[in-house]
Amino acid sequence: MAKVGYIEGDGIGHEIVPVTIEILRELVPQIEFIPIEAGLDYMKKTGKNVLIDDEAIELASSCDALLKGPTATPPGPGSPKSVVVTLRQELDLYANVRPFQYPEKIDVILVRENTEDLYKGIEYRVSLDVAIGMRVITREGSRRIAEYAYRMASQMRRRKVTIVHKATVMKETCGLFRETCLEVASRHPSIETDEMHVDTVAMNLILDPKRFDVILTTNMFGDILSDLCAGIIGSIGLCPSANIGDRHAMFEAIHGSAPDIAGEGIANPAGIILAAALMLDHLGYTIQARKLREATLNVVTKKTVVTPDLGGNATTRQMAEEILRKTLQE
Ligand code: NAD
Repeated sequence: MAKVGYIEGDGIGHEIVPVTIEILRELVPQIEFIPIEAGLDYMKKTGKNVLIDDEAIELASSCDALLKGPTATPPGPGSPKSVVVTLRQELDLYANVRPFQYPEKIDVILVRENTEDLYKGIEYRVSLDVAIGMRVITREGSRRIAEYAYRMASQMRRRKVTIVHKATVMKETCGLFRETCLEVASRHPSIETDEMHVDTVAMNLILDPKRFDVILTTNMFGDILSDLCAGIIGSIGLCPSANIGDRHAMFEAIHGSAPDIAGEGIANPAGIILAAALMLDHLGYTIQARKLREATLNVVTKKTVVTPDLGGNATTRQMAEEILRKTLQE
């Protein structure tokens, strides 16, 4: 029996995660669900200065997969490390995979390195007016993400991988990433490889997203390009994300806790439901995963019962119930 840990998180997480767990319980009754507490609400409740504590990390690492709701992170110096960055680093979830699929608009899988780059958090205030941050890129980190991207591309029968960098400016960090990815690419001749600067990718994604298939890039560039792809789809509420390591896996929507609409019951649950479908695929429940994905895309594109961000007036629960109804019909 698969054991799935879930974190509601903060804000709209308290609305979108429970309805998703209800759908999963209905679709795959044999999964055991374990609640795990983390996030700003948890920190406030406990008075601790951490957003996720060691026991929660240990519980998370004992599960076969994690479904994570959005968690809020207080900004600024001295504030605790975010839940998502902590889990990515502690569970060594080095591959962040984000499928952006919407009929007629875009069909791109973005593979982003998840543990290095500016996200290492190595920053110093060297004087009152000057702050310095360090970008860490390693050959091993670049190799394993490139291997993952090419392996995934060949398993999913994708035709092309675009390596995204800015090696003309960041000659050492992007240079090492580029060199390592091209070396991995040379071992996968059946998949076409091209490379492009990150700024050119941003423009071309807007002008002609269909020219991209799999995008392989570093942590910060991947973060920014993800939101751009979400913008092409039309709502950040529709996009899932998988964080994969060799021993653990975590699935979430790409959006945050949306404090501006939290508590209103109108958050779009599609992103986390599509993330749950990726999780079912990962756990081997591929038939249920396909049905859930197709039903979600059907509800979203036909706009039958959808939340206000998609122009409808349904609540989170009504939209989730419609997705479940359609899934069971498939
Ligand atoms: P956000 O994604 O929470 O919100 C951006 C905008 O998108 C808001 O207008 C919001 O209402 C809307 N939105 C987001 N998700 C939606 C949904 N499911 N349905 C409808 N509308 C939706 O980004 P933000 O405002 O920059 O961040 C808020 C908090 O979330 C911050 O504390 C941030 O640290 C956190 N955050 C967490 C994650 C994560 O847990 N992976 C990711 C991003 C941001």
